[in-house]
Amino acid sequence: MSHDPVIEARELYVSYPLGRTLFGNKSYLNAVDGISLKIGRGSFFGLVGESGSGKTTLGRALLKAAPISDGEVFYRDDEVSHDLREIEGLALKDYRKRAQLIFQDPYAALSPRMTVRDIIAEPLEVMKLTRNRAETDERVREIAAKCRLNLEHLRRFPHAFSGGQRQRISIARALVSGPRFIVADESVAALDVSIQADVLNLLKQIQRDMGISFLFISHDLSVVAHVCDHVAVMYLGQIVESAPTRSLFARPRHPYTSALLSAIPSLDPDAPKTAEKLEGEIPSPADPPQGCKFHTRCRLARDACKASRPKLREVAPGHMAACHFAEEFDFTRTAAAPAPATTTA
Ligand code: SF4
Repeated sequence: MSHDPVIEARELYVSYPLGRTLFGNKSYLNAVDGISLKIGRGSFFGLVGESGSGKTTLGRALLKAAPISDGEVFYRDDEVSHDLREIEGLALKDYRKRAQLIFQDPYAALSPRMTVRDIIAEPLEVMKLTRNRAETDERVREIAAKCRLNLEHLRRFPHAFSGGQRQRISIARALVSGPRFIVADESVAALDVSIQADVLNLLKQIQRDMGISFLFISHDLSVVAHVCDHVAVMYLGQIVESAPTRSLFARPRHPYTSALLSAIPSLDPDAPKTAEKLEGEIPSPADPPQGCKFHTRCRLARDACKASRPKLREVAPGHMAACHFAEEFDFTRTAAAPAPATTTA
């Protein structure tokens, strides 16, 4: 894996107007609140957080499918850097080919009236990427085989398939245009656990074989641990921790990450029970708390936490956290965390 970023966001904001306050000022909801990140070439980058943290909006902004209100996003292809805020016309069409999305729900994502062949072929036809039907069919068969779909499957309709098979059809559709960057948004959340492993293995295999960079969005840290080489944790529109997966699981530096990790059930009956419990609901992004956005739920909050918002900063080599006291806390995990797995095809 190269560390050259395929995607780089700098101080990215996605804001939606809420109307005017009592004093006549315009107010906004910052779904993405000043995020900077780099996704390396061939990287499997995990993005986790509770529902309402802004993960999906960030993923869509990186695909230029959500409006970028402020900041910059760059996509690098063959050493050429493209500013997503500027691209349009042919350049935007090329980006649509290079950056794809895999949806969460494999049942809703596929048209029930189209055959699997037509579903996979549609991006090629809409973007005019092949010269004729024979070329389209050849490309569809090639990608279907990579996703472990056979020729017989191509003639059927989506209702004939299980959830895992449907998700493999969605993956084939995302791959057919030759993307360099894929956002997989909760792509295994709707599947049974046994099927999740099959789909995760397929995504990992695709990353290795085709060198595609993934932004893997999930609310489930245990899933992220098994496929991602780097993890960023989001809370109320901001990244509060970002680190290589092993480092984050071995010693989280932010109380929110630590609480999320302690919520992962352990199969080991001797594993120490942790007392960390995440209380309450995530506050509304329309009215976020002052100071540290996490202070209303943080069991370690102090007065200083309400007064100023901590910046994301390096607290150990390659390990970033947004907490005033990150160096003081020791959340070292003695129980075996779900270490990043070497998946099998
Ligand atoms: Fe908790 Fe304070 Fe750190 Fe925020 S800055 S995570 S409230 S200890």
